[in-house]
Amino acid sequence: MHEVSMPPTPIFPAPPNPVALILGSEQVFPVRRIFCVGRNYAAHAAEMGNEVDREAPFYFTKSAHALCPSGSTIPYPPGTQDCHYEMEFVVAIGAPAFQVSKGEAMASVWGYGCGIDLTRRDLQSAAKDKRRPWDLGKDFENAAILAPLIPAADFGAVGAQRITLNLNGKPVQDAALSDMVWSVSEIIAHLSGFYHLRPGDLIYTGTPAGVGPVQPGDILSGAIDGLPPIEVTIGAAEQT
Ligand code: MN
Repeated sequence: MHEVSMPPTPIFPAPPNPVALILGSEQVFPVRRIFCVGRNYAAHAAEMGNEVDREAPFYFTKSAHALCPSGSTIPYPPGTQDCHYEMEFVVAIGAPAFQVSKGEAMASVWGYGCGIDLTRRDLQSAAKDKRRPWDLGKDFENAAILAPLIPAADFGAVGAQRITLNLNGKPVQDAALSDMVWSVSEIIAHLSGFYHLRPGDLIYTGTPAGVGPVQPGDILSGAIDGLPPIEVTIGAAEQT
């Protein structure tokens, strides 16, 4: 006798899949994984006391559940005394890429957005000192702030677009996307050698020089030429 297999019943309601907003659209971009590039602007690597590794880019990851939409007020993150902003250009993958060449890489890009990689710098520094992973410093709730995305065709070629961040209206980061050590196509080609990149994957491409701490009450406002701007307000730490 043939048994009809039923889909398994979750023991609790499945959490909603994180999504990114798309400018001017009712549709959303379902987010799968978040890859982040380290030390992709020479001046930022220098301010952190590091040299750029020109052999290959390197990465860390954040959970998709670390996403936070632009316009939010977030609590000052727990467990840190030194939370830093990092303004970044974000690439949204919309087609599979595995072991692609630089020449093939851009065909996998759906679009782009402004992002802020919030970092618990004290925890990251302690991890570096102890040769431990960076997760506590990088992968925490609201640590991947993201503005609405736009399609790659609307943005055009990635070139010398200006990338800036203001802290309470005062400029703190100001560079050009052409200052990136590893270009978008180089990053995708390299990363696709280690992962099957799929629609929904995001890549935060690293931050320019000028990173620094935030305090409760601060407002971060970032911009990249041709993209919807990003803003986040840092609220008080949560009380238990
Ligand atoms: Mn970063």
